[in-house]
Amino acid sequence: MPKYDYELQCYIDHAGRVMDCGHPARMRPGCCAGGKYAGMLQINARAAAGIDAITAGDLAAQRARPAADAAFDLAIKRGILSIDPSAANYAGDYMFMGHHAGHDQFKHVTTRQYITPTEQQQVKQSGRY
Ligand SMILES: [Zn+2]
Repeated sequence: MPKYDYELQCYIDHAGRVMDCGHPARMRPGCCAGGKYAGMLQINARAAAGIDAITAGDLAAQRARPAADAAFDLAIKRGILSIDPSAANYAGDYMFMGHHAGHDQFKHVTTRQYITPTEQQQVKQSGRY
């Protein structure tokens, strides 16, 4: 579900990027933020537009995002995490902690417990890197 950035005045897609506005070519460039910053990460577009300053923490989070997204996708595909909010291993309750000892590590946001994949899931997960 795209989100609207009211300060930037354009839509942001699920990956955090500025969506193209769809204005006709004769209006480009400079029709609007959606035309000017299409495809750019929201955080960068906001900085380019002078709305926010980018911090070192922002940059680190931005670099870490694709790896975390891929790890979550894989863990869900392999049944280590679930997209079902009522499941004990609901992905929304977990943080990606990086790749250690041959496995992607996920920590529960409340209990701080790491999820332990079954042996079968671990076998399936090996060979990814
Ligand atoms: Zn536009």
